[in-house]
Amino acid sequence: MAIEKIKEILEILYRIKMLNDDIGEAQLKKDGILVNVKTYEDEIERIEIEFEEKEAEKIKKHKKLLENENKVVEIEDHIRNLESSIPTMKTNDEYFKLQDKVNELKEEKNRVEDNILALMEENEEYRRTFKELEVRKNTNLEKINKEIAGHRSELENLEKRLETGNAEKAEKLASINPTMTNRYNKLEQRFTSNPIVYLNGETCTGCNMGVPPQVRVNIKMMDKIEYCQNCGRILLVRRAE
Ligand SMILES: [Zn+2]
Repeated sequence: MAIEKIKEILEILYRIKMLNDDIGEAQLKKDGILVNVKTYEDEIERIEIEFEEKEAEKIKKHKKLLENENKVVEIEDHIRNLESSIPTMKTNDEYFKLQDKVNELKEEKNRVEDNILALMEENEEYRRTFKELEVRKNTNLEKINKEIAGHRSELENLEKRLETGNAEKAEKLASINPTMTNRYNKLEQRFTSNPIVYLNGETCTGCNMGVPPQVRVNIKMMDKIEYCQNCGRILLVRRAE
C-alpha cells in the first residue's frame, strides 16, 4: 500500500520533471525571441526618429522659402508705392533720392530671389534625401514586421506550451499529499528550473556532487523518495522513454 503510494508519487514527480524541462525550454526560446524583437523594435524607433528629424528640417526649409517669397512681394509693393508717388514730386532732388531708394530695393529683391533659387535647389536635393530615407524606412519596416510576425506565431505557440504545461503541473502537484507538495514548492523556490534532477552514474546532475551508494540503490528501486544530500533536489533515475 505504502509502496504503491510512493510509486504513484514518483510517477507524478517524473511527469513534473518532464513538464519542468518543457516549460524551461519554452521559456528559454521565448526569452531568446523577445531579445530579437527588442532589437528590431529599437531599429524601428531609430529610423522613425531620423525620419522625424528630416521631416522637421524639410518643414523648416519650406518655411524659409515662403518667408523669402513674401519678402519679394513686400519689396515689390514698396517699389510700386514709391513709384506711384513720382507724379507728386516737386524737385529733381526728391526724384533722384526716390530713384536711389528704388534701385536699392531692386538690389535687395535680387538678393532675396537668389536666396529663393538656392533654397529651391537645396529643397530639391533635400527632397531626394527624404525620399531615399522613406524608402529605407519602409523597406526596413517591412523586413522587421515580417520578422516579428514570423516570431509572433512562434511566441503564441510557446505561450500555449507554457500555459498548458503550468496548468498540468499545478494539477499534478495538487494531487499529491500536502507535505510533499510543500517540500516540492520550497525546492522550486531555490531551484526554479530544476528542483527534480536525474542521477547520472554516481552523481546528482543538479550539483554534480556524488550520491552515496545506498541512496542510489533506493532511487533505482523506486521505493523511496530520495533527495540529494548536497543540494537537496529530488533525485530520480533516468528511465528509457
Ligand atoms: Zn545535488
